[in-house]
Amino acid sequence: MNDDTTTPPPGPVRVPAKLTNGGTVLPIVRWGTPVMHARTRPVTEFGDALHTLVRDMFATMEAAEGVGLAGPQVGSDLAIFVYDCPDDDDVRHIGVVCNPVVELPEGRDRRLDSTEEGCLSLPGGYQPLARPDLATCRGQDVDGNDIELVGTGLFARCLQHETDHLYGTVFGDRLTARARKKLYQQHESLVENYPDDWPVSPKLVEGEPRRGRRSSASAFIAE
Ligand SMILES: [Zn+2]
Repeated sequence: MNDDTTTPPPGPVRVPAKLTNGGTVLPIVRWGTPVMHARTRPVTEFGDALHTLVRDMFATMEAAEGVGLAGPQVGSDLAIFVYDCPDDDDVRHIGVVCNPVVELPEGRDRRLDSTEEGCLSLPGGYQPLARPDLATCRGQDVDGNDIELVGTGLFARCLQHETDHLYGTVFGDRLTARARKKLYQQHESLVENYPDDWPVSPKLVEGEPRRGRRSSASAFIAE
């Protein structure tokens, strides 16, 4: 263990369980809603209100089975995202970043990886998108301490996708017109499986009778 408190611990940044448990599942905002396409404002207060938002974001991401979730996706205009995402070595990274800035490799170090990408705010749509396979993300943790994350594989993609959200960019903005059209067609063909307040109300499974709307999120985060 490193007991020098000014140096962050090596390896994945750890988040206390009190910040990943006990939150309330919130509806996920869809593309087309103004908050999804606007630049967020910096997090400047690292207190209880922020911790509550983080708990709710973890609960929402888990209910939606996502690997990342940005503030605007739950209607917040703050520059913050949470993640629970494996990297290229199958190491699971769980955490939160405030005020992220992503740095990508340039020149010969820059390798693009074209993999299908989706977004919880456009459920059902997936399209390949080329992005650098390595990303460094700098920002602050929930208490305002500086952090630096280095991501490979899906985690590199996640760091870029979530940081994009905080600048009002959705991944459809990075697609060709033709790919974007396909993306919306996929979404349209599956969107009726996603209630307006999903994941507060669960996704409908094809072939199963429609279940009633849940009046509370509590049944959904009971694990
Ligand atoms: Zn997204």
